[in-house]
Amino acid sequence: MAEEPKETKPGFQNPVAGFGVTFKAMFKKRLTEQYPEQQKTTAPRFHGRHQLNRHPDGLEKCVGCELCAWACPADAIYVEGADNTDEERYSPGERYGRVYQINYARCILCGLCIEACPTRALTMTNEFELADSSRANLIYTKEQLLAGLEEGMVDTPHAIYPGTDEQDYYRGLVTEAASGTERQVATSQGEKPQDAASTFGEGEPASEKVIRR
Ligand code: SF4
Ligand code: SF4
Repeated sequence: MAEEPKETKPGFQNPVAGFGVTFKAMFKKRLTEQYPEQQKTTAPRFHGRHQLNRHPDGLEKCVGCELCAWACPADAIYVEGADNTDEERYSPGERYGRVYQINYARCILCGLCIEACPTRALTMTNEFELADSSRANLIYTKEQLLAGLEEGMVDTPHAIYPGTDEQDYYRGLVTEAASGTERQVATSQGEKPQDAASTFGEGEPASEKVIRR
């Protein structure tokens, strides 16, 4: 049996009902955020800008394996690995990430890359102000992504902690740089002994803005 048509309101009542919705909304709590003057604290596990982490003595955790790049659904990561040498060492093991770039014009901040990283070299911070008017500026380089130096760290390249191997680093046995550790000359980057001053880690966000996952 066909349903009987519902009773409809007289036409003139419809605008009144519409204004009723507006009237009720006037007394609701406002949700407007005064950004950027007032910034809300992000959730602890917020997916923001990436960070390439260091071991406690300053050596880099990235081993240049490219797993993060293969895991990325947006093809936003570019990695080139290279071999460490005793004269120019960036990580405790055999290989390190010589070139590392993330294109934030492509990245959707999904976090699949940090799940793929076997050394916890790659994590995400809570920094979200990534907008820029230039595509080139949205490609972040290793120098921009590498974590800053904390107390007890020496900038890379430098020698492995004496008497330890790569495994000891992952067991947490190295807690700071050995006394007398000095930065080596980054000859692979065209550096000469006279300009071997610390260059990495500049531009790193203040540590209180960074949440490691
Ligand atoms: S967060 Fe997602 S989209 Fe961005 S680089 Fe990592 S895997 Fe790619
Ligand atoms: S960040 Fe992690 S997954 Fe990516 S190249 Fe470095 S070690 Fe490999």
